[in-house]
Amino acid sequence: MSITIRKAAVIGSGIMGSGIAAHLANVGIPTLLLDIVPKQLSAEEEKKGWTLDHPAVRNRLAAGAVAKLAKTNPAPLYDPAFAERITPGNLEDHLDGLADVDWIIEVIVENLDAKRSLLERVESVWKPGTIVSSNTSGISINAMAEGRSEAFRRSFMGTHFFNPPRYMKLLEIIPAAGTDPQLVQQMKQFSETVLGKGVVIAKDTPNFIANRIGTYGLFVTLQEMERGGYTVEEVDAATGPALGRPKSATFRTLDLVGLDTFLHVADNVRLNVDSESERQAFTPPASLTGLVERGWLGEKSGQGFYKKV
Ligand code: NAD
Repeated sequence: MSITIRKAAVIGSGIMGSGIAAHLANVGIPTLLLDIVPKQLSAEEEKKGWTLDHPAVRNRLAAGAVAKLAKTNPAPLYDPAFAERITPGNLEDHLDGLADVDWIIEVIVENLDAKRSLLERVESVWKPGTIVSSNTSGISINAMAEGRSEAFRRSFMGTHFFNPPRYMKLLEIIPAAGTDPQLVQQMKQFSETVLGKGVVIAKDTPNFIANRIGTYGLFVTLQEMERGGYTVEEVDAATGPALGRPKSATFRTLDLVGLDTFLHVADNVRLNVDSESERQAFTPPASLTGLVERGWLGEKSGQGFYKKV
């Protein structure tokens, strides 16, 4: 039997959450997009005399993400009405809204404790039968499910979209020990037919498949680039369109992903393997950690390997 997603909710309206919400809305699924309540007023909000209780302030993060999406996803690639299908909000005022959807996707920061406490809140309003998934890049799905009820765990899995979600076809689905195997197959079929994804079912090993290979490959690239005396531009020239990759090459992709996020992702392996040689292999080189220490996080901060123009 196939599944129907009448309505969905995405929690976390950053790079990935907003992109996933846009993809769902673009295939016709009304989607609630939730983020946290800002702790400070922006200069513009202060000028307007608003306080932190003002609804526009409380919903600012998700609403801002939707406004940006509307500008960056032009027709005909996107259904012009897609943004109207996304309802932005915040988790405090709209938690109950999660009881009215068929699929909840967690897309917050890559941190196990944060994801676990969010799932605890989600379960407090969760309606049996609602699918819950995490977009983690590589944190253990089993570890995230710890402490949750058996019924909730049957409906919980990893659904790992790639950046940007509307262009990248790959979707890794990662069942945990308690996930209903039939639901995994139904999600695979739904993701292929409705979302247009190419699905790979992955094991719950650190960073699953693509990111395990990808992080390792990038660290080796950086090492060999330093040894060979190559520049970022030279490596990108040889690994971008010249290789048949339509747009982004190695370092442009990394700037898009976010260098801080990439380090968190590499840590998922480094901190969760037993052998010293594997730990070594997943230790980031100083040329990368140095950029993050300077606040050069990629496109989101205006500067990464490249300056955003
Ligand atoms: P991001 O930093 O751009 O966005 C995270 C968002 O979550 C922010 O808007 C933040 O305010 C919000 N948030 C944080 N804690 C929250 C909470 N408790 N409740 C509600 N919202 C909360 O991060 P991102 O790059 O979108 O990554 C999100 C997840 O997707 C991570 O698990 C990451 O590993 C994974 N991922 C990222 C990429 C990528 O290329 N950036 C690719 C695949 C998967």
